[in-house]
Amino acid sequence: MKSKVLLIYTGGTIGMMQDAKTGTLKPFDFKHLTEQIPELNKFDVTLSAVSFDKPIDSSDMQPSVWIDIAKMIEKNYDKVDGFVVLHGSDTMSFTASALSFMLENLNKPVILTGSQLPIGMIRTDGKENLITSIEIAAAKNNGRSIISEVCIYFEFQLYRGNRTHKFNAEHFQAFQSANYPVLAEAGVHIKYNLGALQKRISKTLKVHTALNTNIAILKLFPGITQNVVEAILNANGVKAIVLETFGSGNASTQKWFIDALKKSIDAGRVVLNVTQCNAGKVEQGKYTTSAALKKIGVVGSSDITSEAAVAKLMFVLAKTSNKKEIEKLLKTDLRGEMTV
Ligand code: ASP
Repeated sequence: MKSKVLLIYTGGTIGMMQDAKTGTLKPFDFKHLTEQIPELNKFDVTLSAVSFDKPIDSSDMQPSVWIDIAKMIEKNYDKVDGFVVLHGSDTMSFTASALSFMLENLNKPVILTGSQLPIGMIRTDGKENLITSIEIAAAKNNGRSIISEVCIYFEFQLYRGNRTHKFNAEHFQAFQSANYPVLAEAGVHIKYNLGALQKRISKTLKVHTALNTNIAILKLFPGITQNVVEAILNANGVKAIVLETFGSGNASTQKWFIDALKKSIDAGRVVLNVTQCNAGKVEQGKYTTSAALKKIGVVGSSDITSEAAVAKLMFVLAKTSNKKEIEKLLKTDLRGEMTV
């Protein structure tokens, strides 16, 4: 039996081609995908494709589109063996993180991919990214999908989506997963890192479509002023703040700073400590410069990325408004997004 894979085209460079007259990049009609990539006809996979009416540059991505993608996956879940989501690379890590939380008990592959150069260009990285993503989405072992989680495939590497960060705007290797091993590497063969894959869950898929966007990121830097800190911590409607700290979760010990955080927490907001470093984790209390954060109730986030923290907060805040429950969920590894 041939595997069935559904391609979902949301936009991004991968689906663009150069307009013959003007030379500008424009999305090509996805119905003509095989004209662009005739190699797809040689696949031993039954492919179908859906495209968003208005393909977007992923810098325009919105949580409402994440909800649309999740619903498309839900609608087609029993009809296909896997999904490939074509997406711009700029915010791909956010989308992959959000989908990982929204798709509970996922037992099929959802592979996000894109490219740095449009598919119509002679040196495009898009063809390899797309072809191998399809192969991974179709891959089975003993009749079951090898992958059962949301991943990003880019430049010969398969990553757990909610562990990724776009770190390079120039190189074909645009993503890294500093705190979690690569799930597969594509060379002559696709070699899966079986021990690192998410285990199958024998429960039915549950799709969560509620997200609460009332969050903020406060990125610290030496010299940040009190009025900026207070403006973000007390912004109207904000329920939770990702506090991007230094090193292993450290921050200034100035009294005004700790007081401002305490005031915001006491007013009912949740503050999640995420490190600005790409690798390593938050360890509140390791240094004196993080001990005060722990004392006033800032929540430590271990080694989660900022992208996954944003998505997790939107997901968790939509689940409950009970502060204790929110904090408990933030400290729990829900979808392999953090090491606990
Ligand atoms: N700006 C583009 C986007 O994220 C870049 C890309 O496609 O990789 O949609």
